[in-house]
Amino acid sequence: MNAELLLMFALGVDRAYLYGHSEHKLSDDEQNRYNSAIAERARGVPTQYITGHQEFWGLDFIVTPEVLIPRPETEHVIETVLELISDRKRALRIVDVGTGSGCIAVALAKELPKAEIHATDSSNSALQVARTNAARLEVENRVRYHHTDLLAGLSPPFDFVLSNPPYVGESESDSVQLEVRKFEPRSAVFAGPTGLEVISRLIPQAHDVLQRDGWLIIEISGTIAEKTKQLLTNWDFEFIPDLQSIPRVVRARKRPR
Ligand code: GLN
Repeated sequence: MNAELLLMFALGVDRAYLYGHSEHKLSDDEQNRYNSAIAERARGVPTQYITGHQEFWGLDFIVTPEVLIPRPETEHVIETVLELISDRKRALRIVDVGTGSGCIAVALAKELPKAEIHATDSSNSALQVARTNAARLEVENRVRYHHTDLLAGLSPPFDFVLSNPPYVGESESDSVQLEVRKFEPRSAVFAGPTGLEVISRLIPQAHDVLQRDGWLIIEISGTIAEKTKQLLTNWDFEFIPDLQSIPRVVRARKRPR
């Protein structure tokens, strides 16, 4: 599977070409490109960082080692948002915190033609990747980028605050795949010693910027689910499980005063 993707990458062709042209003999250049891609992969580099692409929500995203590779679990964040919106043509203000590759912001810009979408990240190089993705997917006029910590400096109110924040604790490091630890940006994966360091700051900030009926939707892991509940004392909330029945998304609304 990986070998096939890397061969497609080395030849610059799609899968249909690969299967339709078994007579194709590799040129020296092609052979060299393929060999070096295989060598990178053997060193543990994720296929997506070699080919520079990952599909998310049916869209083709550019990825570099400066951004987290979008994961299929994160599509649950998109589904959760869309389920809460009865009229997709409504004007809404949405912010994606820690946008990385921009996958959440861009996928929603595609689905919600009237939404004003903001995307923040503390990494300038990540924001560059996110901008490239918005441009390639033709939503560059719909997403505004902010180089900032979480929600600092944004103008409220928002209808949705979304995030797939770093939520892994340094203490769980051994249970994280070696490839992730070695090649994906540490600050995108690890929050600090416990894993709660980022969401414990994000939740109160979201409380401040959301409008009364607004929604906070964040991706979490089973490991931090119980502790996350304790951070949501002034919210009404629900956990949404992923396909493996692990709590994966929290959707929360401010409790009416
Ligand atoms: N929002 C991006 C994603 O969901 C990046 C998240 C991150 O870097 N923690 O893939």
